[in-house]
Amino acid sequence: MKALAFNEFGGPEKLKLQEVPDPKIGPDEVLLRVRACALNHLDLFVREGIPALKTPLPFWSGCDIAGDVAEVGSAVEDVKVGERVAVNPSLTCGRCEFCQQGEDSMCVRYGILGEHEPGGLAEAVKVRASNILKLPDHVAYEDVTALAAPVLRHRILLNFHAESEHIDTDEIIRRVLADMPPPAGKP
Ligand SMILES: [Zn+2]
Repeated sequence: MKALAFNEFGGPEKLKLQEVPDPKIGPDEVLLRVRACALNHLDLFVREGIPALKTPLPFWSGCDIAGDVAEVGSAVEDVKVGERVAVNPSLTCGRCEFCQQGEDSMCVRYGILGEHEPGGLAEAVKVRASNILKLPDHVAYEDVTALAAPVLRHRILLNFHAESEHIDTDEIIRRVLADMPPPAGKP
């Protein structure tokens, strides 16, 4: 597949549309055909090089992703090829005490898709099935990418407020999606 990858760290001139290996999904993952990927400041940090990360090269970033499900892992239920989804870019272990309590973004091995693993600035990206959010038909891929890292990844902040006010955070996200206007030019 093609990715907007960099082979050395630096400015935007280091980005090159190039051929990279196709992602291979595991049993609990899905492959997405990327339809939109927003620019996040994280993309700039990663491209310029974060010394502590030891990012393997070539690398491609992209953490605010929306796309279509193109392939479904053997252990994944309730996800179908062709579904439109946005991505929570959190990479968590699923085993530590925080993950067990549902506080994913406190995970002791916390990582971000597009920072710790190649991201969405490519034709396709593999994602854990539990990290996808199905989109209502009227929500544009481009619009929902503004939600991905800021809202889905920081759900812990929503949880914090929700606990004191008895709000269902899934319901908040559903309402945000439902209230998003259709793309310009479409009814
Ligand atoms: Zn964890």
